[in-house]
Amino acid sequence: MSKSLKEKIEELRNKIREYDYNYYILAKPSVPDYEYDIIYKELEKLEKENPDLITPDSPTQRVGSDLTKVFNQVQHKIPMLSLSNSYSEDELINFDRRVREGLPSNEIPEYVAELKIDGVSVSIKYENGILKTAATRGDGTTGEEVTTNIKTIRSIPLNVNLQKAKEYDLKEFEVRGEIFMEIEAFKKLNEEREAEGEKTFANPRNSSAGTIKMQDPKIVANRPLDIFVYSLLGDKTQFKSQHENLKLLEKLGLKVNPNYRLCKNINEVLQYCEEWEKKREKLPYEIDGVVVKVNSIKQQQILGSIAKSPRWAIAYKFKAKQAETIVKEIRWQVGRTGAVTPVAEFEPVFLAGSTISRATLHNIEEIQRKDIREGDFVIIEKGGDVIPKVVSVILEKRKKGTKATLPPEKCPVCSSPLFKPENEVMIYCENNLCSAKVKGEIQHFASRGAMDIEGLGESLINQFVDWGFLNSYADIYELKNHKEKLVEIEKLGEKSVTNLLDAIEKSKQKNFS
Ligand SMILES: [Zn+2]
Repeated sequence: MSKSLKEKIEELRNKIREYDYNYYILAKPSVPDYEYDIIYKELEKLEKENPDLITPDSPTQRVGSDLTKVFNQVQHKIPMLSLSNSYSEDELINFDRRVREGLPSNEIPEYVAELKIDGVSVSIKYENGILKTAATRGDGTTGEEVTTNIKTIRSIPLNVNLQKAKEYDLKEFEVRGEIFMEIEAFKKLNEEREAEGEKTFANPRNSSAGTIKMQDPKIVANRPLDIFVYSLLGDKTQFKSQHENLKLLEKLGLKVNPNYRLCKNINEVLQYCEEWEKKREKLPYEIDGVVVKVNSIKQQQILGSIAKSPRWAIAYKFKAKQAETIVKEIRWQVGRTGAVTPVAEFEPVFLAGSTISRATLHNIEEIQRKDIREGDFVIIEKGGDVIPKVVSVILEKRKKGTKATLPPEKCPVCSSPLFKPENEVMIYCENNLCSAKVKGEIQHFASRGAMDIEGLGESLINQFVDWGFLNSYADIYELKNHKEKLVEIEKLGEKSVTNLLDAIEKSKQKNFS
């Protein structure tokens, strides 16, 4: 007996779903790529011939073709609370004390410890087992709808295990998780962008955040985004604990980070934190700490929330990641205000998701306090603010003959004398016509925050100042008188000069609008 077309299509879909589950969620591919492709193409063909049989949860429907023009605002039904942070064992012990004080004496808390993925939080809604909508966390109360982009992520199932959903009486439910990019995939993406002359991302989290808000789902589909989910919110409580919650997510076919642990007491939590702070380097993705939750839902409800944070959970943040490198050179650069600041140029080193090759040393007092010298081996770290800094010099590794760093005697750009205002640590170039100051001022004037002249960026301004076309920002509006000369200049074509001059004229109108 031949199967109906509908059955045939559904059978192909189920096969693909199973292969996807094995590949993207269990990371255990079950068929060779070509076999997968054959089945996928067969499904595509049948659906093309019978468009009325296409359903939104078909694996072929992951990547939409429409651009997202606006990301609609979405109100979270249950706010996405932020966790309070802790940075030491003592703070975790205090958290445990507060939890026990908040509970009746017969309620002994257990905890679930989970890795804190350094990514972008999202909320995904399923209805009758099918992915309906997805939104970013936003400010916790209101996020932005990113359904079409979320659907392109292969480790997010378009439909969950229906049998399990029925078993647990889950008609409508919300899943929360963290979108991230693996470190290797992130590096590769940055290499590709660099090769194409595009701006690189500072770290995997930024690249995930940027990608999830892109307008073209086709581009999103080509970016290696991934997810770990950590919470299910149903229309009623289907479980008694966070541990059961995670197990249920797994049963539904969703991707849960496998490294969570049920801890009998806070000591076991501390052990978990210590263990993962050491092991984090071995993970293919970035984590920035551990999330600790009271396991029992009943106890969570007794404890409740204060302001925007639950009393029953806390984030333990790892210490900033550090790396060792060499200070190749200490350069002094002059800013818009004439301030002369030291910058350390390092032997490039990979740290917490990006390659670091320089860091500001702020001022001469900072350099002298840490005694940072050219040629020194130093420890650098990157805190939560992503800006790298020099923590200390490794004195045991200092080579003989290095010299203490001195402030420059004259402006490194125009050789004018420098001055240091009283009660200030900064030194300044006293020449008002110093080309570094002029460049800085013009850059500031043309920048997005001010006149926003498209195409007039830092490097072009620097060249125009060096060639004598610009001596102040007023000269920008005289550039049109030099059009022929500008066109002749290497690399600047007629078209780009015309565009630039148009943008300059356009910026004039800004004053009068
Ligand atoms: Zn100067």
